[in-house]
Amino acid sequence: MAATRLWIKNPLAVFTANHHDASGGLVIEDSRIVELLGAAQQPAQPCQQTFDASAHVLLPGLINTHHHFYQTLTRAWAPVVNQPLFPWLKTLYPVWARLTPEKLALASKVALAELLLSGCTTAADHHYLFPGGLEQAIDVQVNAVRELGMRAMLSRGSMSLGEADGGLPPQHTVQSGEAILADSQRLIERYHERGDGAQIQIALAPCSPFSVTRDIMRASAEMAEQLDVRLHTHLAETLDEEDYCLRQFGLRTVDYLESVGWLGPRTWLAHGIHFNAEEIARLGAAGTGICHCPCSNMRLASGICPVHDLEAAGAPVGLGVDGSASNDASNMIIEARQALYIQRLRYGAEAITPERALGWATRGSARLLGRSDVGELAVGKQADLALFKLDDLRFSGSHDPLSALLLCGADRADRVMIGGSWRVVDGQIEGLDVAQLIADHSQAARQLVSG
Ligand SMILES: [Zn+2]
Repeated sequence: MAATRLWIKNPLAVFTANHHDASGGLVIEDSRIVELLGAAQQPAQPCQQTFDASAHVLLPGLINTHHHFYQTLTRAWAPVVNQPLFPWLKTLYPVWARLTPEKLALASKVALAELLLSGCTTAADHHYLFPGGLEQAIDVQVNAVRELGMRAMLSRGSMSLGEADGGLPPQHTVQSGEAILADSQRLIERYHERGDGAQIQIALAPCSPFSVTRDIMRASAEMAEQLDVRLHTHLAETLDEEDYCLRQFGLRTVDYLESVGWLGPRTWLAHGIHFNAEEIARLGAAGTGICHCPCSNMRLASGICPVHDLEAAGAPVGLGVDGSASNDASNMIIEARQALYIQRLRYGAEAITPERALGWATRGSARLLGRSDVGELAVGKQADLALFKLDDLRFSGSHDPLSALLLCGADRADRVMIGGSWRVVDGQIEGLDVAQLIADHSQAARQLVSG
């Protein structure tokens, strides 16, 4: 039986994230893109289905490379609204320690649904809380990802350095090195998919220099090498962290990273703000990826990531919403707008274009996750697409559709396709009762903060 071919026809505008022209649209067969069409070009073979995209701006599905799904339960919580990172964390740790599998399931579903509606098709999460009863946290997240039909890089986070040993988190939130490594290996063996079209992937992600031991950093790097998975952590987010590294290890953050065997192309780092020129050169030479998180960095007043210098040095750059309690949204298209604007403050309007910001959110992010099958529109890539309509009041009077998407503040996709299947149609997620989800999740959020 011949496969069904679908023509996404004549989009209003298209961003391919590469030099290819797809102004006539693209053809999808099963889960992949099989043809890109120039203006007025017809598909080479007959298509059984056609989707008229003349009212849509077409993008590769957006890719989020840093998040903490569970934090959707502590968004805009009054005690931390005006705090910078370290006091923000210290106030939140005891609340987060009460997380349960049921609450994590709801939080993950909310974060994923919100991302999906914003045009995101692949999401990375960094989960590092495993209090008693929540040992299966990543398994819970796998179920949520499958339910929504998205792709995810679930990074098995960890905290092993409690207050008693000079770390930041309370002692009852940390795990032993043995427990962390055993669970990491279990998760990779059970869930990590390889090759094109993978839905679930696992990475190893000790939380930050101030919450894990150097031993667990080294052991995670060794396991990642052995089992061929990626490494992720927070680095150089604030000057408090830099001071901590100097005091605790006698090293700056990048020296610390190198000392534990992490300075290489397998690693992607969240934030990457406080680097000097020499460190940027080393990160670039090593091919270490940087996930820029503009909303979170502004929200916590952490600083501005030197994105342009990092890319010039050779470091891949992607985007992350990082939250949800430091953003406090999970919206990838808004994140691209914020990246455009904060980077203009640092590098000027001419250097930072809407296409460049969208490139970080798509192809750049895919590189951070080590994926070559998503993040751009080209023959052979997965059919992961985000389509936005410009029929809202905010777009009225706009001229260039692609620029309008970011400049006028698009916040919701009209259609999203993942692996050839529509997951969002007319701005709604297929098969999800959003009102019920909000009710259940809000109740869980109230319970969590009230203890
Ligand atoms: Zn984070």
